[in-house]
Amino acid sequence: MASRTPKLHLSPSVFHRHLMDNTKQKLAYDGGDLRVWQRKLRRKLRELIGEIPRERVALNVRSLWKREHELGFIEKIAFTAEPYADVAAYMCVPRSAEPPYPTMVCVQGHSTGMHNSIAVDLETNDKTIDVEGDRDFGIGCMKRGVAAFCIEQRAFGERSEKLQEQRSEHGCHDAAMHALMLGRTLMGERVFDVDRGIDYLETRGDIDFKRLGVMGNSGGGTISMFSAALLPRLRFAMPSCYFCTFRDSIMSIYHCADNYVPHLYKYAEMPDIMGLFAPGPVVVVAGKADPIFPIAGVRRAFRKLKTIYRAAGAEDRCHLVVGDGGHRFYADAAWPKMLRELRRLRQPGYGITTPMVSSTLA
Ligand SMILES: [Zn+2]
Repeated sequence: MASRTPKLHLSPSVFHRHLMDNTKQKLAYDGGDLRVWQRKLRRKLRELIGEIPRERVALNVRSLWKREHELGFIEKIAFTAEPYADVAAYMCVPRSAEPPYPTMVCVQGHSTGMHNSIAVDLETNDKTIDVEGDRDFGIGCMKRGVAAFCIEQRAFGERSEKLQEQRSEHGCHDAAMHALMLGRTLMGERVFDVDRGIDYLETRGDIDFKRLGVMGNSGGGTISMFSAALLPRLRFAMPSCYFCTFRDSIMSIYHCADNYVPHLYKYAEMPDIMGLFAPGPVVVVAGKADPIFPIAGVRRAFRKLKTIYRAAGAEDRCHLVVGDGGHRFYADAAWPKMLRELRRLRQPGYGITTPMVSSTLA
């Protein structure tokens, strides 16, 4: 006797998609008062990214080397974000501009690290290397008269785990999991590093804080967006190959552990998080053939982001650049839009007002 096979829902993703379909995100932008909404969602996001130290320890800046570059001057430094967490970084100052410099904080994604930002080898920083996908952000900035502060993110590059054996192909796995057990997220820790990096920039005296931005690709795009959403000193943002909907990207396609913030989907979608930056000028960069942040989701998310920027009276400060290829940065397409925004700030009568109350994360 032939038995009929019952339809069983055995895959966890089937259930989780069902749950997503039936989740009314409590703090998604609904067309009401923008400032009030931003305050509420930002407070919630600040809570969800986990504990951040209240006390800011001395940066204890150490200079590791300095060198001339054909485009300017580069110094490698280390500073302390919090006790037992030092950050390595390159400060790139362009030859073609005068201080105070427009400046971008640059963050790499899952790669061999920040050495890509200045196109040198990882081990000695002495040999020039070819960098694919326009990920040489520091060089790209200097070429355009913009200073760059290239930060090594936790669990990447020089800050990858060296003491504990890594069994995951993604170096972020253990750090992301351990952070969760400690009431933190790796996301929150990385945003905090950007905030402390800005503390360092404030000690320099040659940075134009009205023209301070953040940029990065992939995992650097992630931190660009969350930093822009949470850090009031950032005035410009250029997240690449990350902005999409959560639903179409990290909630539908395999991504590693550092992409996840506990409970976040119950409250908001990705355009809401980016919308916390409105009316700050943003250039969203995407790849037409990016397999892990699909372009249909990017466009859907961008339409929602536009409505938020429209509510902020800044629809024209919100740009989408779509490159012809995959998961990478598209410098020649993205920079003209960012440079136009940076120049626009110089025009009399224009000033971005920030809705933030406190000037730092903690
Ligand atoms: Zn990861």
